[in-house]
Amino acid sequence: MQPQDLAKFRKLFIEQRQVLLGNQDRLGWNEGSNLVLSKEALFDEGDLCAAETEQRVQLRLRDRERNLLKKIHEALDRMNKGEFGLCSDCGDTIDVRRLQARPVTTLCIQCKEEQERKESTFAQLA
Ligand SMILES: [Zn+2]
Repeated sequence: MQPQDLAKFRKLFIEQRQVLLGNQDRLGWNEGSNLVLSKEALFDEGDLCAAETEQRVQLRLRDRERNLLKKIHEALDRMNKGEFGLCSDCGDTIDVRRLQARPVTTLCIQCKEEQERKESTFAQLA
């Protein structure tokens, strides 16, 4: 990978991390595992249901963001080790266009397809 590409990805990850960490504060990740419903949300008892739905959506979003944050940390870690852009399975270089579409990926397209094929086989067996 070209150094300028690497620099671009690093910048992207750092920016994304900042956004995600900002969201973390907004969603109250540091205040224990339960989200506290805001006073506005509880103001009208009739809205409680909507507030609960909203909370569920937020929780799902939070899980996804936390997962992404973890992947970004791992990607930065790989960058520091000089392994970013290499497939974690076969060690081949991951196509830069694939990385642009999905920067946190750790698999080249062949290994990814292989993995998906296995997963769908397991899904059929289950
Ligand atoms: Zn591979």
